[in-house]
Amino acid sequence: MTTPANPVALAQALIRCESVTPAEGGALTLLEGILSAAGFECHRMTFSEPGFADVENLYARFGTSGPNLCFAGHTDVVPAGDVDAWTSPPFAAEIRDGILYGRGAVDMKGEIACFIAAVHRILARGDKIPGSISLLITGDEEGDSINGTAKLLGWLKERGEILHDCIVGEPSSKDVVGDEIKIGRRGSLNCELIVEGKQGHAAYPHLADNPVPKIARMIDRLSALVLDEGTTHFEPSRLNVTVISVPNTATNVIPGLARARFNVRYNDAHTRPDLEARLRDVCDAAALEVDARYTIKFSGTGDVFLTQTGPLMETAQLAVREITGAAPRLSTGGGTSDARFIKDHCPVIELGLTNATIHQVDERVPVAELETLTRIYERFITLYFSRS
Ligand SMILES: [Zn+2]
Repeated sequence: MTTPANPVALAQALIRCESVTPAEGGALTLLEGILSAAGFECHRMTFSEPGFADVENLYARFGTSGPNLCFAGHTDVVPAGDVDAWTSPPFAAEIRDGILYGRGAVDMKGEIACFIAAVHRILARGDKIPGSISLLITGDEEGDSINGTAKLLGWLKERGEILHDCIVGEPSSKDVVGDEIKIGRRGSLNCELIVEGKQGHAAYPHLADNPVPKIARMIDRLSALVLDEGTTHFEPSRLNVTVISVPNTATNVIPGLARARFNVRYNDAHTRPDLEARLRDVCDAAALEVDARYTIKFSGTGDVFLTQTGPLMETAQLAVREITGAAPRLSTGGGTSDARFIKDHCPVIELGLTNATIHQVDERVPVAELETLTRIYERFITLYFSRS
């Protein structure tokens, strides 16, 4: 039986559940058992959407009064990849030389284990919690993110259940645990550009209209665009052309169409509508230069956000400093996480293990780091409720 106050054993038990997204793999059942026994009220929810796999989720709450401090995370993991390339089986959760190996060790079963261990240590001490602690755990973070956190948050809202502050246990740290806390994320905008021409014979170009040089000019203008110089908490916004495709295989045919895709990672100097308008202006000007007819489409759900300084951030900084002896850097780098949904409900930060091996073969975490993070979470929870 797993001792919930021991993050290492709990992380191992979680890794041994093969919860490759979107499979539950026994991971949520394991957590539900442990949290119920500790006095949490647990809700298991399966969400569906036509065209997507059903996904199981868990919301567990200890206490009924506010403030409600939430820990958000996911038990689903990315596939193991080349199993033979692992030095031990990806779901065996082996410990060698003080290092725990396994898919999900840092992204992010390790953090879930640390948080639950921290709560158990606080309860075991007999400390009263003047408020509530909740866990919002999805099985849909590494997949489509359709039947997970977004719907869980909707379900909470319908019930009138409020989250006051949220800590996401994604691996935010770079070199050592606690060296970075993520306090926001850049926005991500996907764009598809289509330039229309007229198909024809390469020997009779005057009877055709070649879209290839035209899209090349437009891509060049877009790529040269300087969106900003960066802001206080964010690096400069960047546009990257990622796909150019022309539906044509013959060298003697002028194609009728050319298509490009690009992605913009943007900071808080922009709003999404302003950014789209700016890109359209650049495209209009470039299209005018080469007499191009084009359409552009935008997609992507991740808008930029920055968590303002407040009790959540200050408490986390203080807890890290007390346990590790060093102040964490406040960062907005990296990819998106479910914090992008939570930020619409309450202040949210990300604080977790080091991210050097996430999604890689031999994903791993030093056992000592699990203990350090458990102590950080424990101190964080204690400080949070002593301030409130
Ligand atoms: Zn993750």
